[in-house]
Amino acid sequence: MLKTTPRLPCQSSPTSVSRLMRASSPPLTFRSCPRRPFSSRVSARPPTTLPDPRPAGPYKIQVRAHSCSSSSYSHHSHSQPFGSTTESITMTSGIPKTQYAQIFEKTGGPIQYREIPVQAPGPDEILVNVKYSGVCHTDLHAWKGDWPLDTKLPLVGGHEGAGVVVAKGDQVTNFEIGDCAGVKWLNGSCLSCEFCINGYEPNCPHALLSGYTVDGSFQQYAIAKAIHAAPIPKGTDLAKIAPILCAGITVYKALKESGAKSGQWVAITGAGGGLGTLAIQYAKAMGLRVLGIDTGDVKSKMTQALGAEVFIDFATTPDIVAEAIKVTNGGPHAVINVAVAEKPFEMSCKYVRPRGTVVVVGLPAHAYVKSEVFSTVVKSITIKGSYVGNRADTDEAIDFFSRGLVESPIRIVGLSELPKVFELMEKGEIAGRYVLDTSK
Ligand SMILES: [Zn+2]
Ligand SMILES: [Zn+2]
Repeated sequence: MLKTTPRLPCQSSPTSVSRLMRASSPPLTFRSCPRRPFSSRVSARPPTTLPDPRPAGPYKIQVRAHSCSSSSYSHHSHSQPFGSTTESITMTSGIPKTQYAQIFEKTGGPIQYREIPVQAPGPDEILVNVKYSGVCHTDLHAWKGDWPLDTKLPLVGGHEGAGVVVAKGDQVTNFEIGDCAGVKWLNGSCLSCEFCINGYEPNCPHALLSGYTVDGSFQQYAIAKAIHAAPIPKGTDLAKIAPILCAGITVYKALKESGAKSGQWVAITGAGGGLGTLAIQYAKAMGLRVLGIDTGDVKSKMTQALGAEVFIDFATTPDIVAEAIKVTNGGPHAVINVAVAEKPFEMSCKYVRPRGTVVVVGLPAHAYVKSEVFSTVVKSITIKGSYVGNRADTDEAIDFFSRGLVESPIRIVGLSELPKVFELMEKGEIAGRYVLDTSK
């Protein structure tokens, strides 16, 4: 399995990462979604859980209602442990009362790996036994409070959680107990505002964000609004699909937003990073010709192995704009900016083809997209932002993965090692995507 997981140097030397992996990572294992009904799973941590006298599920129980139960759209019942509500919940047996989570009480404060209660899902929610969760840059920003939007506190971060549905509220019709589900960034939305009804759910002003405004996937049992949870086909490698739930959906949506058609050129800045490597593969699968922009021999070889026709090393190319225009015979029709730096955005506005589209995806802090007005007008270029994706984008992005068109290069460590992953991320030493195994 390890051999099939390519090393993905994104912002660092591979050496530092492989050293970390040797020092800290448990043996790599992949857990697939069980093909049979999820009825007999028990907690991996028996000393902390009480034996469950109930017969094997799924079955229905009546528990007391939480305060938001009258509304079909409500914030999560995250502060309601099992046994404190009166809604009808269908659930499997063996759900423990407590679970392990990575939680912080205050922004930038210590991240504690400790036991917290397992919460009961509301009527329109599912409880997902998270097996694996990817770690995204956003999780680091959430912890540090980098963005002009406050997080919930205390907070369990994470928004790339892949697992199995173990309980659901009585309004849930799109998931059965035992189905595989993904907890993604867009945890819920109102479904009735002008953005939701037009399929722009990520722009919903009432959106619930996993690992930001509601607790996310850095825990063993996470709650998601059933309507927004990602359906994951049975038999899927849950570790490998985790990064698709944010990174994959994000780049796929950005490519759709670019309007580039098969046979046309798309440039990807930060092509060797976690988002970039996925973007190359989606672009290729969509019939686009890819120009990868990044630096170093390792990234050059890797991006080309993944399907980039041409690679520009931004550190050694004297005139990146001229080179990008030359190799694409007039400039790429679209640019997907996933690099986490300001400069590539500005350059992409210069080398994009006339009538082309510059898509802004990466989120470098305090950055601006600058484009000179005269050529913006005369070349008639489009500059647009793209932010995760809606439910259809999610299903499509997962379908590309399921059909084997997109490989998700990952490294697995235990949930308990999250602070180390953040440390590496802060130093810019992450090669590829880290995925946390919640059982360790
Ligand atoms: Zn993310
Ligand atoms: Zn809405």
